[in-house]
Amino acid sequence: MAPAATHPGTSAAVREPLHTTPAAPLDAVVVGAGFGGLYMVHRLREAGLTVQGIEAAGDVGGTWWWNRYPGARCDIPSLLYSYTFSDELQAEWRWSEKYATQPEILAYAQHVADRFDLRPHFLFETRVTSAVFDETAKLWRVKTDRGDEIAARFCVMATGCLSAPRDFDLPGADTFEGETYVTGLWPHDPIDFTGKRVAVIGTGSSAVQSTPLIAEQADQVYVFQRTPNYSLPALNAPLSDEEVAGFRANFPAYVELLRSGQPPLPIPPADYVPSDEELNALVEQLWNGWGLISAVQIPNIVRDERCNQAAGDFVRAKIARIVKDPALAEKLTPRSFPIMTKRACVDTGWYETFNRDNVELVDLRETPITAITPTGVRTTERDYPVDVIVSALGFDAMTGALLRMDIRGRGGLSLKDAWAEGPKTYLGLAVAGFPNLFTVTGPGSPSVLTNVLTAAEQHVDWIMDAIAHVRTTNAATLEATTDAQEDWVAHVNEEADKTLFPRAASWYMGANIPGKPRVFMPYVGEGYKLHCDAVAAEGYAGFALGS
Ligand code: NAP
Repeated sequence: MAPAATHPGTSAAVREPLHTTPAAPLDAVVVGAGFGGLYMVHRLREAGLTVQGIEAAGDVGGTWWWNRYPGARCDIPSLLYSYTFSDELQAEWRWSEKYATQPEILAYAQHVADRFDLRPHFLFETRVTSAVFDETAKLWRVKTDRGDEIAARFCVMATGCLSAPRDFDLPGADTFEGETYVTGLWPHDPIDFTGKRVAVIGTGSSAVQSTPLIAEQADQVYVFQRTPNYSLPALNAPLSDEEVAGFRANFPAYVELLRSGQPPLPIPPADYVPSDEELNALVEQLWNGWGLISAVQIPNIVRDERCNQAAGDFVRAKIARIVKDPALAEKLTPRSFPIMTKRACVDTGWYETFNRDNVELVDLRETPITAITPTGVRTTERDYPVDVIVSALGFDAMTGALLRMDIRGRGGLSLKDAWAEGPKTYLGLAVAGFPNLFTVTGPGSPSVLTNVLTAAEQHVDWIMDAIAHVRTTNAATLEATTDAQEDWVAHVNEEADKTLFPRAASWYMGANIPGKPRVFMPYVGEGYKLHCDAVAAEGYAGFALGS
């Protein structure tokens, strides 16, 4: 049997279960101590409200607590992957690299927790099992796997978009006798791959980041690829004092743009049609600039065939130039979906890794995996004996973390049933039938298509205003109406249908999880914050206040 190496765990905290009674409820429960949950708890505390945070991990950091695989980094620049709510925080934190490593991002989350004294308000190593709306008391009743029973008026799910890792669930996986590691649940102690034969299964961002470093240590690496991905070079480097000073000087203007609902970076307008020369110049920047940020500077890259094709062709040509063996280069070349309709990877040495003698690509389109065996991976062609399997199969994205809990609203309606055909929300913030429940960066909001950290900040600020509205109007509840939700879901789908996104079998579409409904989950339209602000300004249009 494979050792239970996938859960890092820390020693179990010994504590008495927490019980709050409906007679003395808390103002709020916040689930998750990632960047959304930390800021939510901070804002609630600042407003003088009582709050209990709950987190399954041993400490703060969310995805950055769990994803400790070699090479894990952010894929948008660190300077942007930062909170904007505190000038002091911004001024005192100095990122060391263009794209920070997982340990540095985790240290940042820990610094935020210390600086704003947030840890005492969380229960760690505690998983929420159920959250049920008590219609009589108009409270959320939250239970955990530690026996806690908490009653609170508001329940905020800050559970993250990529926080429910897919198990290593290929046929025969539990028979493997070597070591198995899931990228999204990586152990805390470093893994030494020296002298080992390693199978990496998957070629998404997690595999693209980890494989080059694993290959530097291991004897032999087999990369099992089902679909080739587009990857852009990170061009990672230390951040100079000048770059940091430049960002800091511009920080107030950057924050002003965010707060006013304008894109914080210059994004070409939707009706802009670049000439071939302009397009070629912009496409060149994919290789010389800022990865995903350079990609979104290409006008209508996810809407216009010509612009998309130019960018895709450019990446395909680069792969052919980097990978020395032309047949291998072709296998690594993405052709089956438009660039950016799955999140592009940002790498350091991904394509170059395939020029190494100890790295072999197994193309699963030609020879699919038939089973994991006690000694390795079996395809239709042959057995690959290995000592270690790295499972990089991704996440049950956007809905997985929510649906793994038993969340029940009015009339005992379960979220699982309400979302049986795909997630339905109003603004990605609230769900009809679930009063006083909010989702931070929920499906139906831009979340993963933008800078998810500042997207979480925007949601938390909106939720705080909504909670204040309920309190100042002496209402008991705020609840999205079914009509408003249906209109929003239709709008989300309409916006997605104007793009090339539906052409890819991506996790945005739920396509990576067997049996998951295929619905484009994030909101891709423009002016999202302005829309949220208008809803609030109109007295929470599309919401009903309950007494
Ligand atoms: P992912 O992009 O979903 O990749 C999963 C990989 O597993 C895909 O290559 C997929 O192939 C493959 N796969 C799935 N089922 C398989 C099967 N039965 N047999 C063989 N292969 C199979 O997951 P991820 O790499 O963890 O990344 C998910 C997202 O997390 C990213 O898009 C990104 O947003 C975020 N992330 C970001 C960073 C970063 O740079 N900051 C790092 C890691 C993750 P198919 O393509 O054919 O489905």
